[in-house]
Amino acid sequence: MYVSFDDTDSNKGLCTTYLATEVIDKINLDLIGYPRLIRLNPAVPWKTRGNGSLFMKFGKGYGVKKEIGEINGKKIYSYLKSKKIFMDESELMEELLPIIKNNRCPESDTGVIVSRKKPSPFLYWKGVKQIVEKQEVLDILNEIGAEYHEFGNGRGLIGAACAMACRPRDRTYEYIAYRKKENWGTEREFDRYSVKEMDEKVTSTFNNWEEETQKPCIFPGTPCPVLYGIRGDSYADLFKAADLVKTETVDRHVIFQTNQGSDDHVLRKFDSLIPLSSYQIEGKVVKIEKIPGGHLIFVVETSFGNVDCTVYEPAKTFRNAITWLSPGDCVEVIGELRETPRTLNVEKLNVVSLTKELEKISNPLCEVCGRRMESVGKNKGYRCRDCKTTSSEAIYKENIRWILPGWYEPPPSARRHLSKPLKRMNEEQPLSFVNSRI
Ligand code: ZN
Repeated sequence: MYVSFDDTDSNKGLCTTYLATEVIDKINLDLIGYPRLIRLNPAVPWKTRGNGSLFMKFGKGYGVKKEIGEINGKKIYSYLKSKKIFMDESELMEELLPIIKNNRCPESDTGVIVSRKKPSPFLYWKGVKQIVEKQEVLDILNEIGAEYHEFGNGRGLIGAACAMACRPRDRTYEYIAYRKKENWGTEREFDRYSVKEMDEKVTSTFNNWEEETQKPCIFPGTPCPVLYGIRGDSYADLFKAADLVKTETVDRHVIFQTNQGSDDHVLRKFDSLIPLSSYQIEGKVVKIEKIPGGHLIFVVETSFGNVDCTVYEPAKTFRNAITWLSPGDCVEVIGELRETPRTLNVEKLNVVSLTKELEKISNPLCEVCGRRMESVGKNKGYRCRDCKTTSSEAIYKENIRWILPGWYEPPPSARRHLSKPLKRMNEEQPLSFVNSRI
């Protein structure tokens, strides 16, 4: 039996993944496969914090089982296979609802689904890349005979249905450790350099440590029950990773399978650029400029017209790389297209090829007398005062380019949940930039 829910949290605390641990603990059935934390289109304007939905499959497990966590001192296992269970959707929903009511934020627009059938994977791909309307989801849920329940305006049903529809291609895992209830809302206690050590030793993990600020990225800044989350490619390595991280006492932990770090949200083939989705565009740099607030805009000429690409202040040194681009450079840019102002919020940049950067060093020399010509006016060329000879071209030198072709990305703390880190693409940023050119 498939269960999914979404939109149970608010900015005030709680967390949909914590609710998942409560469900896993209290439902009298076995987990079949991994519980999943599915992030959906980050451009959706009404998203909760990380726009993450939870999916689980429950049954009567048998055969091979894997340890995936511990809740209230009890080991949690996930089974590969399930026996048939004689329970209908509404019975399971009845068991679920009190747990959800106890752990959801009253202002949230929660949606809960119980179903024997999954929606088509098409719904996942739409939900992670585009905007899905609630009515479309309700039609699908009715068609597959799902049982569903909503709180508030029930918008969470959209995310819940999309998460249930997911058949992961690129998958990653997150080991989420939770705090003891009495510590919720207080400052988290941890040894930051234990995270650095973990990051170096367990190389299948990602986005743990920010070298340039010497800061760990696994601890949330919100007052939620999560102590930390370690992301990685290998389920087994995450146990080793968690053993290396030194913190206050962990209350419980669960490993979720996720679509984080997959770039599943990026549209690569499209006919037009419609806001509220993320795209990979390609084209030539037209200009680069700083705007107030420490942000930076560069304009890229594409087959869809010129696109303003913005890199915000929190991207720190990633902005520096952009300043070393020149008009004429060929780039690929991945980012989310915002509506107003219409701009692509840059998540990653691929410098495909570099143009020659020419810098004017002086006016041309007269071919007759050898003296320096003078400018006739802006863009009007040059003329020798004595001989009346003219020339249109100044003398240029070719600058050394201080940037190399390759992929560039913001530091870990400025990355999106869904953005695929270069590490997972087997790419390495060719240079890092201390200085900005402008
Ligand atoms: Zn002359």
